[in-house]
Amino acid sequence: MKKLILLLGCFILFLSFNLSLFSQEKFFKNPKNTFLISTDLHIHTVFSDGFVWPNLRVDEALREGLDLISITDHLEYQPHKGDILNPDKNRSFEIAKKFAQGKELNVVLGAEITRSMPPGHLNAVFITDANLLLHKDSISGIIEANKQNAFVFMNHPNWWPGRPSGIARLEPIHEELIKKKFIHGIEVVNVGLSIEALEIAIENNLTILGTSDVHGIATWEFEQYGGHRPITFVLSEGNDLTSIKNGLFEGKTMVWYKDLIIGKQENLLPVIDSNLEFSQPTYIENTKIALVNLSNLSSIPLVLNYNGKFTLHEDDKIFIIPPRGSKEIKIKTIELLKKINMNFEIFNAIIGKDQYLRFSKTLNFE
Ligand SMILES: [Zn+2]
Ligand SMILES: [Zn+2]
Repeated sequence: MKKLILLLGCFILFLSFNLSLFSQEKFFKNPKNTFLISTDLHIHTVFSDGFVWPNLRVDEALREGLDLISITDHLEYQPHKGDILNPDKNRSFEIAKKFAQGKELNVVLGAEITRSMPPGHLNAVFITDANLLLHKDSISGIIEANKQNAFVFMNHPNWWPGRPSGIARLEPIHEELIKKKFIHGIEVVNVGLSIEALEIAIENNLTILGTSDVHGIATWEFEQYGGHRPITFVLSEGNDLTSIKNGLFEGKTMVWYKDLIIGKQENLLPVIDSNLEFSQPTYIENTKIALVNLSNLSSIPLVLNYNGKFTLHEDDKIFIIPPRGSKEIKIKTIELLKKINMNFEIFNAIIGKDQYLRFSKTLNFE
């Protein structure tokens, strides 16, 4: 009987461990009333110039904790044509979608419209038929994608074949397409970060995206980038496809690249607010030195610069709270306070060129 109870106990422990794997908040704690949907909207397979079958893209995404992917094979560039004829440009999506059935991953139909600069490469996701996007000229495919209510974004605008300077910039054709609302977003991260693309996104109110543009095996390609591919989180009202698509159109995104988060201030603020916790401050006995414990609930280290009016005891004003870790700081407040304003800049939360997210919180002493 004792053995049975022990076995049962072990089984319950095992079960709760496994359940927690599926119910945990991955990477970041969700802001209130918001889902952080992890996506990669730029992925290749053997159906264009990638090196893997679509099934593997699903398995990889599941292993890496993604919620939604789009397979975006090049429409025009088909270097494996001798081995894979690929007459139906929806095929790589269909294979991935079928394989993902019953699994905790959404796959949406997408394609990369592949032209030289300008307009360069553009991704269209949430399309209904990729075959209709193939045209001789470089604009008709973009118009057709919009007819299909797709979300369309500029890919790697800093890529050297189109931009030998490495500096992303818009051409008149882009400006026209943005004005007509045919382009909705821009990749600020595609393997590397482009600060100029971030400036373009903010100036033109485009959605900020970071994607993998993966061609080989994701873990091999990204082990040198902090062990994870660039991920775009959509701050979504629901976890259904309509809400996620709406979130993309409304520009509610945050990019996670290496140890950086990148996005518009209004999107980064609620994420930091729910992932950086402060303890109630207390004074060390018989001193005017206040103690505050800061907890980081996220998967990235937080690089903080204390901007308050006091100086810290023992620490520099720039310090790091490790992922899912905490740090106690001591603040020399000169006199005994009832409350204290905690003002920080977060040096790895980028909201523009030379601009880092500012965060403040007022804490009351006991
Ligand atoms: Zn491309
Ligand atoms: Zn690509």
